[in-house]
Amino acid sequence: MLTDSHVHLSFVKDKSAFLKSTLASKIKPVFMGVDESSVNDLVNLCKSHNIAFFAGFHPLFLDKMCVSDRQGYIKAYLDRLFTLHNSVIKDRDFYNLCGLGEIGIDKRASVSAQEQIAICKAQLDVAFKYKKAVSLHVVKGHDLMLSLLSCLKAEHKLPVFCIHGATLSYDLIKAYSSYNAYFSFGSNLIKKKMTADTISDVKDTVCVANGNVKDNVKYLISDKCQTMLKLISQDRILIESDYDGCSDIYPHAFLHNVYKSVAEILDLDEKSLERLVSDNLYNFIGAKSV
Ligand SMILES: [Zn+2]
Repeated sequence: MLTDSHVHLSFVKDKSAFLKSTLASKIKPVFMGVDESSVNDLVNLCKSHNIAFFAGFHPLFLDKMCVSDRQGYIKAYLDRLFTLHNSVIKDRDFYNLCGLGEIGIDKRASVSAQEQIAICKAQLDVAFKYKKAVSLHVVKGHDLMLSLLSCLKAEHKLPVFCIHGATLSYDLIKAYSSYNAYFSFGSNLIKKKMTADTISDVKDTVCVANGNVKDNVKYLISDKCQTMLKLISQDRILIESDYDGCSDIYPHAFLHNVYKSVAEILDLDEKSLERLVSDNLYNFIGAKSV
């Protein structure tokens, strides 16, 4: 059983078919919300399946919200959600509303950095209040994120978090590790496929992996990412597909290949890596705070 610590349902057309194909692939997925409608979908699916999901408002989706006070609305919405739903964690398994995500800071977003920080802080406050793990998305905003985390730590209000889709310098790994962060890797590790056609764009790589990849295709991981993986404490490593719904079939071949490549870099056999990542995800979701 492979664990996928970060996957989306938002753009999948037939959500229950997708869920069925995911579970049939013997994958333990953790679904991420990005806005109110994606979270509501997850809440509804959760009623009929024992799935794990995170609820949150992604910075790139904030501009679609038609409310005057986005921060106040989000805080009240999440507060209500976390009082109605709680995670179930037992026998090395977990499901239901397990955490808060995907949230963060993204300098490409049209909403100002100042408002993004305020909204991210409001969501981190909710996570701390309900003792939930957080999946953080940070693009070109690590300075802002680190100063926000530092303020929360000083106030003893910092929830446990992971940096999802991590591609980080040595200094950033050191800085986030000082907060006991988890790091989640997936398509960000992939440089290109070992086939005649070189795919440089990560999104294209994921799409190809979803639809057409053969099980024996091997992926290359850049030297930078190999070094980064070796720098991170192994009990903090998570693996993800960050799949966003290019097709209605779960990208299990892609995830398998990420596990295979990471196992080689860390000099572990695949079964040991599966166990390690599964334990790490369980500890991440069950952790109360940093
Ligand atoms: Zn994501």
